Amino acid sequence: MFRNILVRYDEIAIKKGNREWFENILLANIRNSIAEMGSASKFRGRMLVELKSESDLEDAVKRLSFVPGISSFSPVLKLSRECSWEEIVEKSLVLAKKGLEEGRTVMKVICNRPDKSYPGTSIEIQKKLAGEVLSKCENRFKVSMKDYDLGLEIEIHKSGIFIFNSKLPGIKGLPSGTAGEFLSLLSGGIDSPVASFLCMRRGARIHYMSFHSPPYTGEESMKKLIDIARQLKKFQGSSTKLFIAPLIDIQLLIKARCFESYRTILFRRMMFKIAEKIAFENGFTALVTGESLSQVASQTIENLTCINDAVKKLPVIRPLITSEKGETIEIARKIGTFDISIRNCPDSCTAFLPKMPLIRGDLEKVEQEEKKLEPEIFDLMESSLKKTRIIDV
Ligand code: ATP
Ligand code: MG
Repeated sequence: MFRNILVRYDEIAIKKGNREWFENILLANIRNSIAEMGSASKFRGRMLVELKSESDLEDAVKRLSFVPGISSFSPVLKLSRECSWEEIVEKSLVLAKKGLEEGRTVMKVICNRPDKSYPGTSIEIQKKLAGEVLSKCENRFKVSMKDYDLGLEIEIHKSGIFIFNSKLPGIKGLPSGTAGEFLSLLSGGIDSPVASFLCMRRGARIHYMSFHSPPYTGEESMKKLIDIARQLKKFQGSSTKLFIAPLIDIQLLIKARCFESYRTILFRRMMFKIAEKIAFENGFTALVTGESLSQVASQTIENLTCINDAVKKLPVIRPLITSEKGETIEIARKIGTFDISIRNCPDSCTAFLPKMPLIRGDLEKVEQEEKKLEPEIFDLMESSLKKTRIIDV
């Protein structure tokens, strides 16, 4: 029945000076997300998706519900601005009759008229349309402005008239790409994909960096990371890079020279240092992690202080810092990463877990431990950077 989808966006509508720039990025993301299925255009305050075929509607709806920056959207019947009143009634009847078939009996008619040059007031149009639809449905509907089960809406724009009966929720937020490109440290666990998604929803375009420790981590772990990045890519609509860097030689050096309890903190510091370099080389403006306060030993505030110190110039964004695990899992399920994250395969930190990890690290002592890695550590870091694989997902 529907070949057109009307798209609404709230937050970007208030970004005065930048409005057009935001809109253009959202439009490009929408075009990317529906790709081969149709086209998209914008007009004042709305965007319109036109599908090549009605049969793509379900798929298009699914994809649009993933695009950050969209507040809501509606499959619509489209008429030209110059259409006759009879055509408006006829299309409204199509939706009303479908409503009856679905067992709906209480109707509300709502008219929005952004094009103020259209004759009549919104209230007049509402009343007239409700009257005609009701009588043509042999009064099988009642009308109520409060307790209705069919909201029949008509929006009148300069570029067309749209009739619809549903408003589907978007994920809101800001169009991905408007806040810059960030590098997300992806572990393969539940948290880091959720953290990446939350940044995306605030306008970031995300690329991923993961450290691996062959032979402790293998192809299975790699496939898991690619699957997560591929799933998350749906939300930003554009391609994404996955950087895979080996950590094993650095881990072995840390294992050989430093106190066992310091291992996790030192591994993390090295990850951060390498990630910051990769971010700089690629023009990414922030790092993202899935850390959550006190969730595990490495995430006490003291240990986070020791880890954070390794990044000198970029902000480290931790969207989950105050989240409860249950909340994180709920989001992971919604965005489709949970089932991938729980696949059981080793990650690089589990390879050399200390028996008794340090709970309250002290930065000065951590720095002393790190000193023990010199000078070899510099070459190892250089070599890890050189061996970093870049996968276009
Ligand atoms: P997650 O569920 O994201 O794995 P976690 O609760 O298991 O998080 P940690 O293993 O302590 O917590 O990791 C904390 C954060 O450090 C991760 O969310 C991720 O951002 C980063 N991280 C951990 N391991 C790696 C890795 N091998 N490669 C890249 N980043 C990592
Ligand atoms: Mg983890």
